[in-house]
Amino acid sequence: MFFSKKCNFAFLIFITMCGIVAYVGHQEAYPILIEGLKRLEYRGYDSAGVALLNKADQLNVYKAKGKVSDLEAKVADKDISGHIGIAHTRWATHGEPNETNAHPHLSKSGNIALIHNGIIENYLSLRKELEKRGFQFKSSTDTEVLTNLIEDVQQSEHVDLFEAVRIALNHVIGAYAIAIVEKGHPDQLIAARKGSPMVIGIGDGEYFIASDATPIVGRTQKVVYIEDEQVVRIKLGEELHIKTIQDVEAIPYVQELKMNLDSIEKAGFDHFMMKEIYEQPTIVRDTMRGRLHPEANTVRLGGIIQYEKQLLYADNIVFVACGTSWHASLVGSYMIEKLAKIRVKVEYASEFRYRDPVVTPHDVVIAVSQSGETADTLAAINLAKEKGAIVLGICNVIGSSISRATDAGIYTHAGPEIGVASTKAFTSQVTVMAMLALRLAELKGTMKDEERLEFIKELDSIPEKIQWTLDHSGHVKDIAAKYKDVRNMLYLGRLQNYPVALEGALKLKEISYIHAEGYPAAEMKHGPIALIDKDMPVVFIATNHSTYEKVISNIQEVKARDGKIIAIVSQKDVLARKMADYVIEIPETECLYSPLLATVPLQILAYYIAVMRGCNVDQPRNLAKSVTVE
Ligand code: GLU
Repeated sequence: MFFSKKCNFAFLIFITMCGIVAYVGHQEAYPILIEGLKRLEYRGYDSAGVALLNKADQLNVYKAKGKVSDLEAKVADKDISGHIGIAHTRWATHGEPNETNAHPHLSKSGNIALIHNGIIENYLSLRKELEKRGFQFKSSTDTEVLTNLIEDVQQSEHVDLFEAVRIALNHVIGAYAIAIVEKGHPDQLIAARKGSPMVIGIGDGEYFIASDATPIVGRTQKVVYIEDEQVVRIKLGEELHIKTIQDVEAIPYVQELKMNLDSIEKAGFDHFMMKEIYEQPTIVRDTMRGRLHPEANTVRLGGIIQYEKQLLYADNIVFVACGTSWHASLVGSYMIEKLAKIRVKVEYASEFRYRDPVVTPHDVVIAVSQSGETADTLAAINLAKEKGAIVLGICNVIGSSISRATDAGIYTHAGPEIGVASTKAFTSQVTVMAMLALRLAELKGTMKDEERLEFIKELDSIPEKIQWTLDHSGHVKDIAAKYKDVRNMLYLGRLQNYPVALEGALKLKEISYIHAEGYPAAEMKHGPIALIDKDMPVVFIATNHSTYEKVISNIQEVKARDGKIIAIVSQKDVLARKMADYVIEIPETECLYSPLLATVPLQILAYYIAVMRGCNVDQPRNLAKSVTVE
């Protein structure tokens, strides 16, 4: 399983989607904290917790796996008094979602309680150091390490908590939004952030801290957004005191909060799907962080390190997946075969489980699933295990059934995906595939060092290129307006862009209910060409890679039959854009990476068509986010 000690899972930074809330002031803290957590529920989480400092200077910590309502049930008969407190919804990155790993975490002395969004990348080395210094850990989290690091600094440097946090954070690599409450200080909260968001609300004789403004809306209009690497002391009766972790004073910039609840939940977008599409540059960066090392020309995938040999010498790597994950696996198969020269098969989990496949102990089966709960994929895992294969996982949800059922794996760290039609989960999966291919190529020596470095550097630049793609996709809405009433649509691409065609068609089907097909472009003449007429829009993924000329010929064939052409082209393209009715540009990149860019405008196209047809984009009919039935 992903969590087994032996598998030494490598975690990395990502912008966490879970939430923090803190309060100090004249009101009872608990109801404000719980209400705040509920308002943050849309972000997705697996457990919740709260710490309250009461009048008797007792620091009461309550946690529950599951929902905020489970936490409420748990504290029903407990002391929940106190005018200061911190509360958290967790999306596990380090250690299973359970009560022990839930936040807040108490320091060794029990004097401080801390909540944290984000990931401390160097937590293992910090933990070892602290263990040598007599600290023991109850949880598997990086957060408990940070809590004790702060306490260690406080005790050994004889400084107050504010200063201890500042010093400690200089030793931390990673992302964090933290809030801390300390015994003996019922009027003070300390907070800090880097990478993970944080906002402070300034009320009348009270302060609020939250991951975004949602818990603050309606309580105060005055907010201060904390910048990266800033530490803040929030003390009743005093102004906010902000310093950078480099010890430079900063002046709080108080702003007026002008957002309503609904727009905040979706970060200003109308739907979660669009919000998630726009998160992709960040998600891809975070999927790679701590794993892709251009400076060392290497990729480190700690989660599967023990199984690298088996992967290298596998007769076959067999991906089992469904839906969008199957498409990502198909991209992965092109990448691994081309770069690492290992034979790869891609199987629908639902077929694999029933067709008595030939799988042997010399094969490595990799199950790919966003939710980690897909019933067919789980069944495929069991079958592969029965046949003696090593089974690895690529999934998004920590502690999910697939992460437990597999021998080891790689988390995609895309954060909770709420829109039913998968977007950022796909790009994060493809990013993992690219890293896996590069790692195997490195171990197998199938690429020259310089060539591998080029690939690694190019992968490192993909988040910026996705951002460029998003920034230049304004006209996709016009294309959507043009074709929103069609009954069919065809998507064509070759090689690694064939799965892009499949994924583009799937997005359209899922959310707009227009019939769409994805095909390898050259297959068109073996059937689908019969469908082409003036009413048939055809999306070509026509990037300037090895089969470019062939795709150009296919475009001509469609044009000759009056079909309408929407072409996704590389920036420097000359030919395809001349023939197309509509052109969508993406930046130049390695051919194998073009799915990471070309899929993005297709997600947007499907999105706008669905919106214009009045469809429920985030919850399309008949579909579920995680398919836990056969
Ligand atoms: N890395 C921390 C953990 O796994 C925090 C995760 C979060 O942001 O909720 O507990």
